[in-house]
Amino acid sequence: MLLNCIFAAMNSEEIKLVKEYLSTPKNIVITPHKNPDGDAVGSVLALWHYLKDTGHKATVIVPNDFPKFLKWMPGVKDILIFEKSPSQGLEIIQNADLIFTLDFNDLSRIGELQKPFEASKARFIMIDHHQEPHAYSEITYSDVSMSSTCEMVYNFIDYLGDRDKINSEIAHCLYAGILTDTGSFKFKSTTSRTHRVVADLIEKGADNSLIHNKIFDTNTPDRIHLLGRALNNLVILESYGTAYITLSKQDLDEFRFKKGDTEGFVNYGLTLEGIHFAAIFIENGDEGFIKISFRSEGEFSVNEFARAHFNGGGHTNAAGGRSDLSLVDTVAKFRGLLDNYKDQLNP
Ligand code: 5GP
Ligand code: MN
Repeated sequence: MLLNCIFAAMNSEEIKLVKEYLSTPKNIVITPHKNPDGDAVGSVLALWHYLKDTGHKATVIVPNDFPKFLKWMPGVKDILIFEKSPSQGLEIIQNADLIFTLDFNDLSRIGELQKPFEASKARFIMIDHHQEPHAYSEITYSDVSMSSTCEMVYNFIDYLGDRDKINSEIAHCLYAGILTDTGSFKFKSTTSRTHRVVADLIEKGADNSLIHNKIFDTNTPDRIHLLGRALNNLVILESYGTAYITLSKQDLDEFRFKKGDTEGFVNYGLTLEGIHFAAIFIENGDEGFIKISFRSEGEFSVNEFARAHFNGGGHTNAAGGRSDLSLVDTVAKFRGLLDNYKDQLNP
């Protein structure tokens, strides 16, 4: 079932209820979506530090592994990767009193964790900024206007009256997620409030320059060369204001693709004048389907486009999806759809 009202700030009743739950030590699981990105890892780790520091037994369980450029975050070594340790993960989930789900709003986004979560008797608390939340949680803190789940975790701690408990470790994690989910404070979702939060995080010890360096300046020669191939493969459809990139399995193999190597590639299409819709199609042999990322500038909703045609979703200007067709057929399907959107894409 979809929750079809607009949620925003947590109300006083919800805050009271959360305070009540957390007034005695609990067994807590904190989980982000599959293929966790900077906001996902940053938010779960920040919340983990906070809950641990306030007397709870908390465990971060991620569905699968995440890129190396996120593995510097404080607490990262304590994360349980469900794909690698399923039985240990199941035992922890079975004993959980409370499960926080962060940076997603539909249990189909957590892969193999979906079944054990659906079977769990724990109370669920969702903190998330994606559109169209599903109704699986007792407390739903959902706000699609937020830059990032990390900004929301900052608010969540603030709602509980614990802003002074945000230490340097928490600040590093939250800063990292806000940085990555706002495209370095560039996307429309970046508000004056986001900057105020970030300023406070720097005051609380987040080393902003170091964090930028850890996330963006860790390129390998293989990744730079893969980017070269991606840009070479870029197709520009001027009359649709659209550009897309394809990367075949052969391209990935040639440059010894590692998780995270294609992060950010899709954005290059949008840097072209007159292009407001960009996509990347990646033939990932491991997953057995074509992974797609969509980005837009302005009104065109890639969330709706991904939902309608590629079994995906996300935000108005950043969404993802998948296709079980071949790479060539997926691209043909994509190109075939553009004419239906011509008025929106090239007004
Ligand atoms: P990315 O393109 O970076 O993988 O994802 C962009 C945004 O879309 C993220 O907020 C991500 O959570 C969301 N997203 C990516 N893939 C999917 C998908 O398959 N389904 C849904 N519902 N959302 C997705
Ligand atoms: Mn996010």
